[in-house]
Amino acid sequence: MNSEIISLNKKIINCNKCPRLIKFRKKILKNKRKKYINDKYWGKPITGFGDMRGEILFVGLAPAAHGATRTGRVFTGDKSSEFLYRCLYKAKISNQNTSEHINDGLKLNNAFITAALKCVPPEDKPEKKELINCFQYFEKEISIMTNLKVIIALGKIAFDTCIQFYRKNHNLNYKFIFKHGKRYELSNKLTLIGCYHPSPRNVNTGRINENKMTNLFKKVKDDLNFMN
Ligand code: SF4
Repeated sequence: MNSEIISLNKKIINCNKCPRLIKFRKKILKNKRKKYINDKYWGKPITGFGDMRGEILFVGLAPAAHGATRTGRVFTGDKSSEFLYRCLYKAKISNQNTSEHINDGLKLNNAFITAALKCVPPEDKPEKKELINCFQYFEKEISIMTNLKVIIALGKIAFDTCIQFYRKNHNLNYKFIFKHGKRYELSNKLTLIGCYHPSPRNVNTGRINENKMTNLFKKVKDDLNFMN
């Protein structure tokens, strides 16, 4: 891990800019899910995971209350991560099809995963000022990923965070609409792709399924192979 990312991760883990989210984290620690009653919850903000020299960046909304906030790794230990990693594995982006705890040997190939908001918000609904507070960390992650070619935004909030970043840093005046599989060419040969979030709600309603998500990931990989 390079020194820039080590220093960034330290800042994230020690961040206390959002009082509402800190209060909510404390509440989660007091009210552990029965299934995890004997687990020591991580209970701090969550950093990104994977290969920062990678060409693909996955961006989710925020850590889950009893997933990443418990295990200490983004998309780890909850239903969304179970679904996501089955697809990542099929697309050969991860070395295994599960993401259960930080010592499970998981590795990403050519990819990094992060969240737009590094702390879990009540009811998965961040306030605007919290997203603004956290935006600096996302900006820094992008600036460290010097080989970045494709951003896959998992859900609309993640998609809007990416748009906000590129609007601020580049002259993008056209309209962006979040749609699964819809691609936008941003600056410097960078592509942004919208993808439904792998949440149980999206899976149970049939909005997303394993084939649909895996095919999107495989297409990204094929396009990158073609470009390289
Ligand atoms: S959401 Fe981001 S800015 Fe707010 S406390 Fe957590 S890490 Fe800090």
